[in-house]
Amino acid sequence: MGLDNCSGKQVLTLRPVSLTTFHREEEMEKQGWGLRKLVLVPCPFQGHINPMLQLGNLLHAIGFSITVAHTRFNFPNPDNHPDFTFLPIQDTLFDRDASSMDVTDVISCLNISCKAPLKNSLTQIMEREKEDHSHKLPCIIYDGSMYFAEAVAHELELPSIMLRTTSAATFLTYYSFPQLLREGYLPLQEAMSLALVPGLYPLRFKDLPIANFKNKNLDILLQQTTRTSDIRSSSAIICNTIDCLEQSSLARLQQQCKVPVFPIGPLHTIVPTASSGLLKDDRSCIEWLDKQTHNSVLYVSLGSIASMNKNELREMAKGLTNSRQPFLWVLRPGSLLPDDFNELIGERGLIVKWAPQKEVLAHKAIGGFWSHCGWNSTLESICAGVPMICQPCFGDQRVNARLLTHVWKVGLAMDSSLVSIEIEKAIRRLMLDVEGHELRRKIINLKEKIELCTQEGASFYNSLSELRKCILSC
Ligand code: UDP
Repeated sequence: MGLDNCSGKQVLTLRPVSLTTFHREEEMEKQGWGLRKLVLVPCPFQGHINPMLQLGNLLHAIGFSITVAHTRFNFPNPDNHPDFTFLPIQDTLFDRDASSMDVTDVISCLNISCKAPLKNSLTQIMEREKEDHSHKLPCIIYDGSMYFAEAVAHELELPSIMLRTTSAATFLTYYSFPQLLREGYLPLQEAMSLALVPGLYPLRFKDLPIANFKNKNLDILLQQTTRTSDIRSSSAIICNTIDCLEQSSLARLQQQCKVPVFPIGPLHTIVPTASSGLLKDDRSCIEWLDKQTHNSVLYVSLGSIASMNKNELREMAKGLTNSRQPFLWVLRPGSLLPDDFNELIGERGLIVKWAPQKEVLAHKAIGGFWSHCGWNSTLESICAGVPMICQPCFGDQRVNARLLTHVWKVGLAMDSSLVSIEIEKAIRRLMLDVEGHELRRKIINLKEKIELCTQEGASFYNSLSELRKCILSC
């Protein structure tokens, strides 16, 4: 691990992959390909922005020109990405209080309001570039949740490719919903929650991303998952995963989809990427970690969306303090803290509003990660060799938690009822017991497997090489 300095910002290089085997920009131009423009359309949530910009960096490193078409709501700082062109598109959310809307509403709203502005902007770009015959038409790479981008590409006769920012296992569940609905499994009956989902071993019904949705909300979510998983006119799917983690899910996904599926991950390890955080990193936690002993600190973060109520936060604080392990806890601005929070926390913990997570996980003082199991956090923890306490809250997090606890066996499941005594026990199991040592050994093994698969000539390279050919030919 090393620290690079890019445009005055400290960025983390985990183990940069050598891309020298790929043709550089000049060679592509020599062969008459021109500098192919890729227009990235990220979904404006942290867990989606990060992998899209990481993909942008990777594709830029192998010779593509990158334009990021972004909403005005939640967009990354262009100053951190001097190699990219940023293209703002108007969305109606910017003028509304999106904090009161749930993620499904935000996504529906973006898909309606962004279509016309994106089409206008792309039409203007194409007009400007029409004269220049060395430029091929831009290729649109869009987050699966931003399906309006595929519609725009189709109308403008531009090629498009879908990026999935979840695990392949999660994406597969989307294709099973129509059948589960037809067979009467949905909405989920409480009595079935622990039963295995037919064809999706080892997922139980309660692990499905739609598990806690009923009636109208379920209908809306099913409509949305159908739209986000429909490949329509797109030429390929890029997944932020790797076959040594998800081989069977990827093989099934490839059978399910009629276009090539390229596992190009874990994206955060491939090329150095400046921060695409929507909140400012509090770097004081790194100095604090420097003073802690090896493997002693539990890192606690529920990502950028999930939140806890006052009572749950009180139980978490009590459990953490009673475990007597030092902890670093990310509590985003706006968290509603119980009145006695500071007394509960005591001296062992450090609270920050936002942490440089990848750097935190790579720090030698970190011995465990109590996580909501967002896909990025899952990949980041595995690649840092840090075992996890899995406390999924909603959506794909339950699928990821099941993979962590029952497939890779590198995490402990936390009971969703969140009682301090249970929290204390789970922390001690992870940080102090033999069980925790075993989880750490397994996750380090997994990390090493991923490192092998991302070495020159290994599966990641083949996949990237095929993706590049696919982009150049479409
Ligand atoms: N993250 C971060 N600092 C924090 C908390 C989260 O940089 O204090 C990053 C984390 O490294 C990850 C992303 O935010 O890349 C969260 O994505 P994830 O898929 O884990 O969860 P989501 O926020 O989408 O629920």
